[in-house]
Amino acid sequence: MPIEDWLGALAQTDHSATDGDLESLSGRDYPFLPDTCVCNQIERLSGHLGHRHNSVRREVIAYSLYIRQVDLMLQSGPRGFCGGRCPSPPAGCCNSNHFVIMNVTDIMNSQNSPVALHMAHMIGLMQKLESSHHGLGTAMRPGYCSMLAQDGCTLRLFKSPRCAHFMCEGLRQEMLRESGDAARTFLAAMKDVESTTISSPASFSSQAVIDQGARLFSAHLPQG
Ligand code: SF4
Ligand code: SF4
Repeated sequence: MPIEDWLGALAQTDHSATDGDLESLSGRDYPFLPDTCVCNQIERLSGHLGHRHNSVRREVIAYSLYIRQVDLMLQSGPRGFCGGRCPSPPAGCCNSNHFVIMNVTDIMNSQNSPVALHMAHMIGLMQKLESSHHGLGTAMRPGYCSMLAQDGCTLRLFKSPRCAHFMCEGLRQEMLRESGDAARTFLAAMKDVESTTISSPASFSSQAVIDQGARLFSAHLPQG
């Protein structure tokens, strides 16, 4: 499994914060992830990031668990539309460097919290590692987003909030046609995060996306 391979390959520098990270993060609800997967992801990222910057490190690990779930939801159905009926092939919406966490509007925002800025920096560093691991042996696709390989995005845990939540109008209409109101509330939650100016840790993710996604994609929840 590529994500587990990457986590397994991540350099481990310091496990002194791992028990605390597990205690703080593993008891939360991750409806799309088995417990073993949650614990492994926390342990490997904690061991890589080390003991400094406690609150930022935990926010970054929590973000990776959140994005992994969003990715699983989209894989369970919507990406079929992207693969077969995208209105703008070959790169679809990966037409520019949307992986960048904070755009000019975010950076110019006077309300920025230091934790959000630090998170953006730490996630940016993790993106480089993740992309170079998943891109190994695969040609990148020049002229589009620099995280885009010939076989798709090289980020799974550390996509930017805008990338992870973006759904074009064609895909939104298709989901509404297929699932009606259940899709409507999910799409509204996704749009909220995608269009939010990033200024605090809360603007990176949304519990409503997980809750509405768990309803819409319930057939894809792990069996207990
Ligand atoms: S979201 Fe829309 S533009 Fe982006 S890859 Fe999917 S179908 Fe294409
Ligand atoms: S980070 Fe990935 S999903 Fe986002 S634009 Fe780049 S290739 Fe596409």
